[in-house]
Amino acid sequence: TQKVVLITGCSSGIGLAMAARIAKDEKKRFMVYATMRNLSKGEALVEAAGRTLGRTLVIKQLDVCDECSIKACVDSLPERRVDILISNAGMGLIGPIECQSIDEMKTVMDTNFFGFVRLLKEILPDMKRRKKGHIVVISSVMGIQGIIFNDVYAASKFAVEGFCESLAVQALRFNLNISLIEPGPVITEFERKVYDEGMKTDLSKADKITADIFTNVYLKNYNQIFESLGQTAEEVAEQTLKIITMENPPFRHQTNTLYTPMTTLKYADPNGDLPIDTFYKMVFEHDKVFNASLNFLKLLRWRSRKSFSMETDKSN
Ligand code: NAD
Repeated sequence: TQKVVLITGCSSGIGLAMAARIAKDEKKRFMVYATMRNLSKGEALVEAAGRTLGRTLVIKQLDVCDECSIKACVDSLPERRVDILISNAGMGLIGPIECQSIDEMKTVMDTNFFGFVRLLKEILPDMKRRKKGHIVVISSVMGIQGIIFNDVYAASKFAVEGFCESLAVQALRFNLNISLIEPGPVITEFERKVYDEGMKTDLSKADKITADIFTNVYLKNYNQIFESLGQTAEEVAEQTLKIITMENPPFRHQTNTLYTPMTTLKYADPNGDLPIDTFYKMVFEHDKVFNASLNFLKLLRWRSRKSFSMETDKSN
């Protein structure tokens, strides 16, 4: 029998790529409910879905900030069954916190964190009853490591990760799996939207030094980071497909091997100073960037030797 997959935020980016890829599974193992907040934005997904539309892919409305919309969507599914929930809808926010209103920050938390919690409140009880299910969350490397001027976004992803770490132990008791997918930079609308919003930031509330770092260091290098490290949404989709077909899926999966040396710094130093010092050097001490990059490359080689291979699924 086909597994029912419900994905949020499918009008663009990673959500769209995952919906299309999973629906096109060669063995037709999945029935995909690709959801989006605004159905009038479905054109790109319809095109990407091609012949799978109406067969292994159905588009439905779902706003993760609206409990009624979540309930209506789940109620409309046969037996309300969701075997695999992929919580993907999310938004970014960059800039100095002096320039952001609490309301803007709350919208990010409401979408990225409470959006996921609302989904779970609707779907988890059924999964527990069936003692079957896989909860997949598109988190971020910023769910385990903060980045300058991404304070609130990182907090929202840390919230998701802390929540899942707590829930994962209980979930095991019900035979449920939880997987956090942690992409590094991915080239999507997200990146462009966040950058455009960042460019529009009213910096009058920030002091000169902060405004200067944000404009002349952070924003100036923003696009370059995506160009040099960025993955495609399709790559993330391909890896997510592998994760949902594993018998024993991992709790965490970083999609971008170019980024893992950075997150490895966190685990290499229990005091937590190593990643902070490294980021500081990368951002503020350009002359030392060479050394930092060299260490980065050394770690990269070390890491690739030990690398977690997607092929060596624990179940094999
Ligand atoms: P995106 O902006 O293309 O996709 C986000 C989607 O979420 C959009 O389709 C948007 O309409 C939808 N969305 C926003 N609020 C919603 C709501 N209330 N209800 C339903 N849908 C809503 O960007 P993306 O890169 O595809 O982002 C997908 C996920 O990946 C996000 O959770 C994001 O945090 C995460 N992520 C992105 C990157 C990156 O660099 N692009 C990196 C790591 C993690």
